[in-house]
Amino acid sequence: MKKTAFFPGSFDPFTKGHADIVKRGLNLFDEIIIGIGTNTNKNRYFEIEAIEREIKGAFNNDPRVKIIHYEDLTASVAKKHGAKFILRGLRNTTDFEYENTISQVNRQLETELETVFLITSPELAPISSTIVRELHKFGADITSYIPYKIE
Ligand code: ADP
Repeated sequence: MKKTAFFPGSFDPFTKGHADIVKRGLNLFDEIIIGIGTNTNKNRYFEIEAIEREIKGAFNNDPRVKIIHYEDLTASVAKKHGAKFILRGLRNTTDFEYENTISQVNRQLETELETVFLITSPELAPISSTIVRELHKFGADITSYIPYKIE
């Protein structure tokens, strides 16, 4: 049976850190669905359509990498798309504290849903979407942090 993992996040923007998790995840799973979570209460900085286009380009339209947007419970969306695994990256203990709780709640919601964590590649650990947004806001060059060109 096809092993599908759901990789949820805000991806505002999708960084080289995220791309690394997807690339390494493809060694474990047959298919990865990148789920761009949208929250109506939170304005995005980068347009979803632009991010989606650029992610597709970054993975050369690899058929094993799919992209969806969602505004729902992550666990329900994963199930709806036939994913038995949630994929997440762990940069540090702050990520761990947060991810630990979320993964437990997700498993209460969907008992068969396992979260698989990949430890960040050390050179990518300092990259966060928040920092990339700040840099971009003040006109700094962000090309070394993202795996594609953003308009
Ligand atoms: P969220 O808004 O849910 O925190 P993000 O878009 O910030 O979503 O991140 C999605 C996932 O990618 C999370 O598991 C996060 O820990 C992971 N991640 C973020 N930055 C990196 C990085 N530099 N290296 C590896 N994983 C990362």
